[in-house]
Amino acid sequence: MTTTYDFWLAGRRASGDADFEVHNSWDGRLVGRVSVPTEAQVEEALDAAVAALPVFAATPAHQRAAALDHVAKRLAERTEELARLITAENGKPIKWARGEVGRAVSVFRWAAEEARRTNGETMRLDTDPGGVGRFAVVRRFPRGVVLGIAPFNFPLNLVAHKVAPAIAVGAPIILKPAPATPLSAMVLGEILAETDLPVGSWSILPVPNDRMPALVQDGRVPVISFTGSDKVGYQIMDSVPRKHTTLELGGNAAAVVLADWSSEADLDWAATRIAMFANYQGGQSCISVQRVIADASVYDALVEKVVAKVAAQVTGDPNDDATDVGPLVDENAAKRVESWVDDAVAKGAKVLVGGTREGATYAPTVLAELPADAILAKAEVFGPVLSLHRVEGVAEAFAAVNDSPFGLQAGVFTHDLQTAFRAHRELEVGGVIIGDAPSYRADQMPYGGVKDSGVGREGVKYAMDDYTVEKVMVLTGL
Ligand code: NAD
Repeated sequence: MTTTYDFWLAGRRASGDADFEVHNSWDGRLVGRVSVPTEAQVEEALDAAVAALPVFAATPAHQRAAALDHVAKRLAERTEELARLITAENGKPIKWARGEVGRAVSVFRWAAEEARRTNGETMRLDTDPGGVGRFAVVRRFPRGVVLGIAPFNFPLNLVAHKVAPAIAVGAPIILKPAPATPLSAMVLGEILAETDLPVGSWSILPVPNDRMPALVQDGRVPVISFTGSDKVGYQIMDSVPRKHTTLELGGNAAAVVLADWSSEADLDWAATRIAMFANYQGGQSCISVQRVIADASVYDALVEKVVAKVAAQVTGDPNDDATDVGPLVDENAAKRVESWVDDAVAKGAKVLVGGTREGATYAPTVLAELPADAILAKAEVFGPVLSLHRVEGVAEAFAAVNDSPFGLQAGVFTHDLQTAFRAHRELEVGGVIIGDAPSYRADQMPYGGVKDSGVGREGVKYAMDDYTVEKVMVLTGL
């Protein structure tokens, strides 16, 4: 029997008068149905969130931290069940799904830690004669109700990145999961419902896309935290220019391998990390490696190793522990990737490995000689396709990284400290990873992009800053 998943309205289980289906992209089976909230139920959630704001903001830190610790513990206990569900709804291989649950646990743990930390600062004002006898207290207060909108590619962890910081600061949140992958968010709701968080402080509502503009524009929601495509993200920001909006968008991340990264061991490590992080969620991560930019002195040796490692990746059933690369989120996604590779090949690119599709599965693919006018040269592929570029020297390598509409993270394989600092200064990205692929992320890091990759930063502490505003109080006559 197929489960119908209720949604969560003001912290309580609820169902609407319609539902939609979630299918597995590997075998097409029906994984579950999700109940859709009516317009009246969305209204109820919004009113409840507004009513919860003063209560939630005043909840003692120890209570919010305890709730977050509880969620972390329960997610950890339910790892295997959640990982199986993520694999079922998203199609990603089970080993990566387990890793995703582990990340979500870490996000809630970090949020519990951060909730316990000092809020604000004091400031001397007697630096000017007019300030003698005064000082300032600066504290952060929730801006109001947060609308969190999540994408399909990390159905639990990116939901955690919205919800946990909101609980940590006491800001009510309405979370909207992706339509392809709402199920693990609904199980997170079960766990949140075990806590004593105030009624109305959280809702998880699978609102259909065509009803989202009304929710985005609703005056009761002053903060929007969006993760997804640049198209939808900038549309949202343009429609509500006065709201506090964070956009975590796409990328076409580059891994740079410089001339000093040349020993056998260096090149083995670089090739291993590049091959893994080009294809680890079928390439459906905003920081998947899409471009390898290698100095001419190491290019041939590196390419040989990368191609061998990609060719050795196990593609197939995502439920199998041995599988490295599973299907994409649906067959249309795989067909789009196929058409972009075809476009590149028609314009002169060479396929070194891969280049084939079976249903929703696109084979891990490596391309050389990608022409500048191919779609793949600039757009985000969001699939298991890597292109290789030969450059001469650091300046040319860094210019190639920056020759992109996106700027999320870059990886630079170098041993040279000066070059590392130069990369930090010159690369137009939100994060530079030295000695590894661009795909590294830890939950305490500020995470986000420049250019078309977005606006603002996530990472637990940074999202907490985002959901709150500093308010100053000046004390006089002291
Ligand atoms: P998407 O933009 O299609 O959808 C994202 C979310 O927006 C979904 O929940 C969707 O239902 C919702 N949505 C769709 N139309 C909307 C509208 N008009 N108003 C409000 N919400 C609307 O993205 P996706 O395909 O789910 O995710 C893939 C994209 O996400 C890629 O571009 C990827 O790079 C990006 N991403 C970025 C990060 C990051 O942290 N920078 C992380 C993961 C994914």
